[in-house]
Amino acid sequence: MNELLKGLGLTQLAQQLPGLLDTARQQQLSYEAFLRQALESEVQGRQRRALERRVRAAHLPSRSRLESFDFSFQPAVSERLIRELAGLSFVETATNVVFLGPPGVGKTHLASALALAAVEGGHSALFTTLSQLAETLEATPHPSLWRQKFRRYLQPRVLVIDEVGYTRLTAEQARRFFDLVTARYERGPIILTSNTSFTEWGTLLGGDEVLATALLDRLLHHAEVISINGRSYRMKDRFAGDKSLAG
Ligand code: ADP
Ligand code: MG
Repeated sequence: MNELLKGLGLTQLAQQLPGLLDTARQQQLSYEAFLRQALESEVQGRQRRALERRVRAAHLPSRSRLESFDFSFQPAVSERLIRELAGLSFVETATNVVFLGPPGVGKTHLASALALAAVEGGHSALFTTLSQLAETLEATPHPSLWRQKFRRYLQPRVLVIDEVGYTRLTAEQARRFFDLVTARYERGPIILTSNTSFTEWGTLLGGDEVLATALLDRLLHHAEVISINGRSYRMKDRFAGDKSLAG
């Protein structure tokens, strides 16, 4: 039996079959009910594995979820807006999501939680930092290799670009970044985080103000910009400690 099932590619059912047969005997299931359970177990197993594959492929830095985000700690973030984004219509409309703010306010947490929501909703995603992206996309001698690398960032339905602002790009890297934003424009959303205000993006992008303006134009045309000017969550316990010391 196992070999027949595996020959047909029904590996999930092959694993589950002994248990399913036991239950069917105990509950005296009809042939029809048993067949349905068997097929459902194969389908569910496949969906579970596909989800695991998408989660692995997304390279998320953590499994941070919206459920573990304390909105009361960060009132600058609209819980309503974040929940609406988690409904994933931004994926369908290719609306970019930009989180701006100083370190520790939860930008990476929220970006990666939204990407995880997209993955759980059946979409592909990829998490990267701008410096990783810039290094990868830097000129390679072989155009075909370069195209392959470019496609890696173009294909995922949702692309997270974290930590924009920590590295200054070379002129070459800035142009590649621009090419990518342009290629994804109205095709698939970018979730981006930055500690640097848009006015400084010229400096960031190899000193090319014209390129920065054109890039921001495309990035922000269909976008939700969420500025988080609150306290650092990493310092939370420090604050609590200070309070207890004070009183
Ligand atoms: P940023 O990317 O803005 O520097 P992170 O998202 O890396 O900040 O947040 C730093 C740490 O604090 C992470 O472990 C994150 O999960 C946690 N964190 C930040 N804000 C919150 C919050 N409001 N509720 C719960 N955890 C938070
Ligand atoms: Mg971060």
